[in-house]
Amino acid sequence: MDYVLPTKDPEQLYLHQGSCAFPPVDVEGLARAMGIVFDNNFSLSRFGYSGEIRWQENRPVVWINPGDSLVRKRFTLAHEIGHYILHMLDDRDAVFKDDVKIMRRGGEWTSKEMQANRFAASLLMPKALLVAEMQKPRFWGPTTAHLAERFQVSEESMGYRLSNLGLKAS
Ligand SMILES: [Zn+2]
Repeated sequence: MDYVLPTKDPEQLYLHQGSCAFPPVDVEGLARAMGIVFDNNFSLSRFGYSGEIRWQENRPVVWINPGDSLVRKRFTLAHEIGHYILHMLDDRDAVFKDDVKIMRRGGEWTSKEMQANRFAASLLMPKALLVAEMQKPRFWGPTTAHLAERFQVSEESMGYRLSNLGLKAS
């Protein structure tokens, strides 16, 4: 079956959740809507990896380490979706195997890994949703921790995202 990508812009992908355009972004639902297949097998060759994406029989197949925390799994999946949209559509031989070192700040980064991480941050924390969330009337906050919980990302990811956008949590 051929799937049509709703958009290649990670800032816009959340809009395809239909009427539920609220955080947290349904990253798994988006992956499925794009025709990405989930591989749930765990093998020793995958020990130490957070995620992987490859073509298999003309379908993009993703694997996410089931032992990781929810926020880590969401970030990994968003990162693999980034590889798919940015690096795999024109390259049917591409395979990306990601470990925590590759995906973390400070590790050895290639430009493709940086692109996939930037994509993931935009997909999970779209600027428009973030600004809307911060403008909600409330008695105090929001803090970085509050926003991280609302978007189901790590506080570290939220901190980087806010500073990259020039936004300030309280
Ligand atoms: Zn990667």
